[in-house]
Amino acid sequence: MDFENISRPQRENLHKWGKARKIVDEERIKLLFGSDDRYQFKVEGNTSDYTLGVDIDTGETFCPCAFQGDTCSHQIAAHLFLAEIGLENTSYR
Ligand SMILES: [Zn+2]
Repeated sequence: MDFENISRPQRENLHKWGKARKIVDEERIKLLFGSDDRYQFKVEGNTSDYTLGVDIDTGETFCPCAFQGDTCSHQIAAHLFLAEIGLENTSYR
């Protein structure tokens, strides 16, 4: 990848992944519960805490934060967390 000419959306995306990585590393994400089809997490954001859900079958994530866009850093953090504890559904990796 040419980092000199990285586009703004790409830059924002990388920033988001960096934030998600930090959330996991600093243990600001906790698994509240898991059922057969859904996991629920609590994430400590910069300004407030969020409760978000992951649909295990589809890999879809739901976060109530105000982020405008496809996937916020909290949702990426949830996927990183699941991947690390070996629970993520391999079909949407
Ligand atoms: Zn979020």
